[in-house]
Amino acid sequence: MNKENGKSLLIAILIVSVIAAIGFTAYKIVKNIKGEKAIFSRVESAQAELTNYIVYGTHLNIEGKINELTQGTTDIDLILESTDGYKKEINLQYEEVEDGYKFYTSDLINTGINLEEFMKNKYYMFIKLEYGKKKQKYYSLENKTEYDQIEYYTITKNGQNNKIEIKFDKHERNDELINYMEISVKQSKLPKDVYDIVIDPGHGGSDTGAQYNGFDEADLTLKFAKQVKEKLENLGLKVKITRDGTESKENFGTRTVYDENGRVNIVGKSKAKYVISIHLNSIEKPNSESGVEVYAPSKINLNLAKAFADNIVKYAKTSYSTLEPSYKKYDGVYVRTYQESEIEQNRREAEEGGYKPYNVTTDTPYLYMLRETGGIATGAYVDGRNKSYGTNNFYNSNIGVEAYLLELGYINNSEDMKNILENEDGYVDRNCTNC
Ligand SMILES: [Zn+2]
Repeated sequence: MNKENGKSLLIAILIVSVIAAIGFTAYKIVKNIKGEKAIFSRVESAQAELTNYIVYGTHLNIEGKINELTQGTTDIDLILESTDGYKKEINLQYEEVEDGYKFYTSDLINTGINLEEFMKNKYYMFIKLEYGKKKQKYYSLENKTEYDQIEYYTITKNGQNNKIEIKFDKHERNDELINYMEISVKQSKLPKDVYDIVIDPGHGGSDTGAQYNGFDEADLTLKFAKQVKEKLENLGLKVKITRDGTESKENFGTRTVYDENGRVNIVGKSKAKYVISIHLNSIEKPNSESGVEVYAPSKINLNLAKAFADNIVKYAKTSYSTLEPSYKKYDGVYVRTYQESEIEQNRREAEEGGYKPYNVTTDTPYLYMLRETGGIATGAYVDGRNKSYGTNNFYNSNIGVEAYLLELGYINNSEDMKNILENEDGYVDRNCTNC
C-alpha cells in the first residue's frame, strides 16, 4: 500500500476498525486482590451447567442452566474474575423454566464475549444470580458439552497476538470438588498454520464460474483477491488465500470443495477469524439486474455486512443490487437461508442416495461458504454421509470462521463490468485522508 497517495483498503479498514474497537468496553475493575480460595469461598455447592459454548469470528458465546429456582430473581450475569482483582460482569439473557433458569450470552453468533478485548491473565468464570434486595448467589460452571477446550489466537496487532485457552478445571474446597470454566490469556506468536483472515477467490480450476463476453468469473475474482491479500498483508495481517491460480483443472473445481485441500477445509484449518469470498454474479437475461450483493450467515449482527456493501457502493461508485427477494435485509445485504421446498428437496436427495437426511432448517444458510465454514454455529452439515461429496472435517467444530460472500457486480451487466474493469481500485482501495 502506498501511504503517500492516501489510499487504504476497504476490507482492511473494516478489519482494522474491529481491532481498534478492542479495549474500549468499560469493564468494572475492582481493586481487591484475592486468592483462588477466596474467589471460590462464596460459590454455591450446586454448579450451573454449561450446555454449549461456541467461538464464531472473534466472539465467544455460552449457554447454560441453573438447576434450582430462587424466589425474587432479578438478574443473571456472567462474572469473569482473576485473583489480582480484575472483574468483568456481562449481563446474560435468561428465562425461567420449570426447575431453574436457562441463560445465554447472545442470540447473535458474532456478538457476545469479545475475545479480542482480553488482557493477559487467568479469568475464572462464574454465574451470578441476583435476587431479593441486592442478594447474590454465585455458581461455577460444569462442562456438560462434548467439547473440552478451545484454543484461539487474537488478530495480529502491531505484530503481536494473544493465545486464549478456554478450558475446564476443578477447585478443591474442603471435601468437595468444584468444577469451573476459565479463560487463560497469554502472549504468543501465531503458529505457522494459524491465520488472521482468509480471502477466497470464487471458483477456479475446472470451474470457470460465470462467463460472458470472453470473461471468466474465476479470473476476475482471483485478480481482486490477490490485491486484497497483498494490501491486508501490508497492514501486518497474516492472510491465507484459498487458491492462487496455479490450481489444476483435475484437482480443483466444483466437486473438490470438500476435499482435504478444498476451500472449505482450507478455511477450517486456517483458524482464521474471518473469511471473505469474492464473486461476480450473473443473470439469465443480460443487463436485467445490476449492483453489489453482500451475503451473510443468519443469526448475526449485520453491521459488518452493511459496512462492506455501503463502502463498496460508495468508493467503487457502483450501486446496490437491484435484486429484491424476501431475504434482502438492507440495501446490498442478503441473508439467504433454506426454503421449505429446498429442505424437501434435500430430504428427497438423501432418500435416493440412501443416507439419513441432514438436519437443515429455515435458519440454515443456503450458501455453503457461509454455512460450512462456521461449524456448529452456522449449522454446517457436510459430514461425509453423502458419498458423492467429500467431508467438511470441521462440520462439528465449536470454532467457526465469520464468513461473508461478496458479489461485486454482474458479469453480464455492461455498467457493472465497465466499472469492474476500469475502476478496480475502487472496489479494493478507498481514498481516505487519515489512514
Ligand atoms: Zn461465483
